Amino acid sequence: MFKKLLFSTFLVAALACKKQDVTEVVPVTIITLDSLNTPSIDTISLPKFEPKPAPELDSIFVKLSDYSDAFEYDLRYATPNNFLAQQVYDCGQCYLRYKTVVALIAAQEDFNKLGYRLKLYDCYRPLDVQKKMWQILPGTNYVANPAKGSVHNRGGAVDLTLVDSLGVELDMGTDFDFFGPEAHHAFTDLDEKVLQNRTLLKQTMEKHHFKSIYSEWWHYNFLPARKDPVSNFTWSCS
Ligand SMILES: [Zn+2]
Repeated sequence: MFKKLLFSTFLVAALACKKQDVTEVVPVTIITLDSLNTPSIDTISLPKFEPKPAPELDSIFVKLSDYSDAFEYDLRYATPNNFLAQQVYDCGQCYLRYKTVVALIAAQEDFNKLGYRLKLYDCYRPLDVQKKMWQILPGTNYVANPAKGSVHNRGGAVDLTLVDSLGVELDMGTDFDFFGPEAHHAFTDLDEKVLQNRTLLKQTMEKHHFKSIYSEWWHYNFLPARKDPVSNFTWSCS
């Protein structure tokens, strides 16, 4: 009975993964049916990740997860866990212009060598969502005026942090979207480790042409995408 239950649990988990088209390579531990008393442990891997072919133009919007399975996601605006206290995306997807994706993957490879990975909080943001944010927090340095549009609206900005090999976020001193001086790059009354973490993030992102802004340790603008047009498309959730 126990044996059947184990097998059924694994089967359901495997089918669920297939249905959701999970592309991340995840080691899966199974217990074989051969020996009830002394089950042997095998480890299998899902098929290796195959990135999509590059689009013809590097300014085309693409989904980051189509080009790399190395990123972590906590896309806050697809949840109520953000400064708006409401979900403004129907579902969480990280879309960016292809050139931004290429540079971000290069930065990720640098972090991987140190045992870290990038975790995304926000990527491309439709202009209508920018308008909603502006209504809630107008006239500050934290939300760009939708009349001009932000680099997020142009597919060239990312909000992100670093996680370790266990997926635990490195201490950056404040949470994402903390609107206060403690989130500023110039604020140095923080633990030495926090300052080191912020410096590692900033220096590596800058190496790949992502420029920081003074008030948000998590926000980076990809310089070649800053002048691209503002967009308002919304991604599919199917
Ligand atoms: Zn941002």
